[in-house]
Amino acid sequence: MTASERLYYADSFLKSFPAVVADVRELSRTEGESVWQIALVRTAFYPTSGGQPNDTGFLCAISPGGASIDIPVDSVEEDEHGQVWHYVRKPLALGAHVEGHIDWPRRFDHMQQHTGQHLLSAIFLRELNAPTFSFHLGESVSTIDLATGPIGHRLESIERLANEVIAEDRRVSSRTIPRAEAEALLAAGDLRKLPERPGNIRIIEIEDLDRNACGGTHVRSTGQIGGLLLRDTEKVSRGVRVEFLCGLRAVRAARADAEILSQATATLSVPAANIPAAVERLKSDSKAVVKDRQRLREELADYHASRLTVEVPIDKGLRFIDRVWKDRDPEYTRLLASRLASAAPSTIILLCSETTDPVSIVFARSLNLNCDCGRILKESLSQLGLRGGGSPEFAQGEVPALELTKLRASLLAGVREALPQAR
Ligand SMILES: [Zn+2]
Repeated sequence: MTASERLYYADSFLKSFPAVVADVRELSRTEGESVWQIALVRTAFYPTSGGQPNDTGFLCAISPGGASIDIPVDSVEEDEHGQVWHYVRKPLALGAHVEGHIDWPRRFDHMQQHTGQHLLSAIFLRELNAPTFSFHLGESVSTIDLATGPIGHRLESIERLANEVIAEDRRVSSRTIPRAEAEALLAAGDLRKLPERPGNIRIIEIEDLDRNACGGTHVRSTGQIGGLLLRDTEKVSRGVRVEFLCGLRAVRAARADAEILSQATATLSVPAANIPAAVERLKSDSKAVVKDRQRLREELADYHASRLTVEVPIDKGLRFIDRVWKDRDPEYTRLLASRLASAAPSTIILLCSETTDPVSIVFARSLNLNCDCGRILKESLSQLGLRGGGSPEFAQGEVPALELTKLRASLLAGVREALPQAR
């Protein structure tokens, strides 16, 4: 079977075409749904290749009853023999006459991005001597990978040069030449690169700018690219990845950015140009607030520790500070426990923060006592099937609120066992 004639080579603006089904293959699929691969004698559908995604659309066929039915084309792929396969979910008979219709807005968008890539690659090569080694046309953004070092400082000028060529509306043309002729162009430095496959070579030219071998679909003149916007750059293993948008994609991106800016100006109550400075100020304010808050919490913990030692005096050589709070966070109870342990002698500390469930527990002691808080907490928690522990002086864990009473009793029993003065 001969490979289908590719109509888009001669006319990338062809939106519909008559054709005959040349081959049909059923692919087995699960869940009761079958997928068929359809080859047509001729097609304007572009198969995924060269960084450009496939076209979608539908095949219009006449049913045996005489009614016309539209069969959606979900994807289009080419095989190693160059055959183009249309993937559909309804069977078609060999030799059936169909009319193919491609999704034109999707295709035209791809043509804009793809031609924009030719233009951009040519300008990067001319201005920065940076060759393109890879191109990807994505759902929302496209990228080219350039063999070069950092180029962030040149983005604005490259973008301006590209848009000048767009405004000049230069002709974009295609022609097919014998391979030997293409090799001569390459040797003379008049062709960017040459694909390895044998046979005739399709050449795409942007008037007075670029000559490139390519099998993709392109607009007729640079004006139809409609504008080009460069976005982020990113370091990749072999160089730099540049994100770009052409035509309506660029307009949509600029619109989305404008919406974000307008929200930010409303929230910050500053003009758009002052947003970076306002954010900087907020960041440094917030840093100062965090620092101040930490200092105040430490001061508070010192005062709090001395008040607790007054409230709970040492009785028979031991003080037991046992508190449960609903409004002190775990970080504060840890801070307070460490201040108590270092400031108050002969003290056992059990502080619970009920701001969360599970409840957060700190179990600590003064340095002059001889009991292993880490071991006692670990054993008490493991009786409840939980984990936690720490050093002999300072331990922590978590317990579900419902088990808190049980845990506190168990810890108290552990202290009584370890310290004679607690009995
Ligand atoms: Zn191309």
